[in-house]
Amino acid sequence: MPKMSSRITGLTGGGDDGWGLFYKARARKAAGEPILELNIGEHDVRTDPSILEAMHASAKGGHTGYAAVPGTLALRQAVADRLSTMSGLEYGPENVLITPGGQSALFAAHHAACNEGDRALLIDPYYATYPGTIRGVGAVPVPVATRPEDGFQPREADLAAAAEASGARSLLINSPNNPTGAVYSDESMAGIARVAAAHDLWVISDEVYDSQVWDRQHRVFASVDGMFERTLTVGSLSKSYAMTGSRLGWIAGPDAAIAHLVNLATHTTYGVPGYIQDAGLFALQQGAEAEAAVAAPFRRRRDMVLARLEGQQALSAIPPSGAMYVMLDVRATGMSGNDFGEGLLAEEDVAIMPGESFGAAAAGHIRVALTLPDDVFAEALDRLFAYAGRQMEKAHA
Ligand code: PMP
Repeated sequence: MPKMSSRITGLTGGGDDGWGLFYKARARKAAGEPILELNIGEHDVRTDPSILEAMHASAKGGHTGYAAVPGTLALRQAVADRLSTMSGLEYGPENVLITPGGQSALFAAHHAACNEGDRALLIDPYYATYPGTIRGVGAVPVPVATRPEDGFQPREADLAAAAEASGARSLLINSPNNPTGAVYSDESMAGIARVAAAHDLWVISDEVYDSQVWDRQHRVFASVDGMFERTLTVGSLSKSYAMTGSRLGWIAGPDAAIAHLVNLATHTTYGVPGYIQDAGLFALQQGAEAEAAVAAPFRRRRDMVLARLEGQQALSAIPPSGAMYVMLDVRATGMSGNDFGEGLLAEEDVAIMPGESFGAAAAGHIRVALTLPDDVFAEALDRLFAYAGRQMEKAHA
């Protein structure tokens, strides 16, 4: 076999991007073992049948040919309207490119912002695919650590120092955050904006969890003063409408940037299936109430975890303000997130994601996905807390 490009062979950075434990749990589950999975960011309910009916009707109606590469005008308009309502800015269809999911939007956005060899900042802890996405466009990921004691809010001085030292072209932010559940405060966003302006950065703002916010308002980063012109907002229907498998997302930004991104789409994806887009349009027409209904179980289960934390010392958490996860600090057990996860899977058949999969700043933590039905989730928590308690006793024996 001829040699492959270093861009692709180096994409994961040599490791497994932290997915090792995930695949181990999946293999045991596939072999028929009763593994309780607290490891995946996917709803325990499927896409609403009414959305599937819209998809079916569209396909039967003939929307099975090539669809317009930028997305159908109606869907671009609907995404623009949703963003305008959330941000107070005026988005139109020319500001939106429909993509096959948020993941490909993140790739395209970095392609648009970075030249080969450019530095791309990302905030640590981060969603596990981020470094590979950045390497995939030939850029170099530069993580900027946040700290548990700050509730994982980024510090302006740290961002400025990283931008200065690396000469970065872009900064990837994610609020509500996977894995920490942090929703950036106005102050954090103002700090990010000052750094972006001072260092002429593109801000790539991953807002795929914008419908899952518990104790504050979601702020569209592009609505911070002066930021619209330098922000590419990434969104998706995966989380908001339980449409993960439909692969439907977008990039929104200045029209001149979107025009270039449409060219990229022409030469990569050639658009998104029309019947999927029509299903997405139907979903968006159900509006914020439908999104709140999809989000409600995660809030309930978040509160279940927080209630369990009381009266024990083995685990602690910064209450997540959004997204479908709780990050638990396991350091009181003396274990790394990875060792904790390995032991929990071996002894209790419960799978979590080790914090280390999300960057060095999440070491000593685990990420619990709030994605099992309440009764099964309660059982998984019983086992998780029992295991943590035993480890704590061992550590202090
Ligand atoms: N960003 C974040 C932070 C995510 O957690 C995910 C999915 N887990 C994505 C982007 C990608 O989502 P999708 O491609 O399904 O839209």
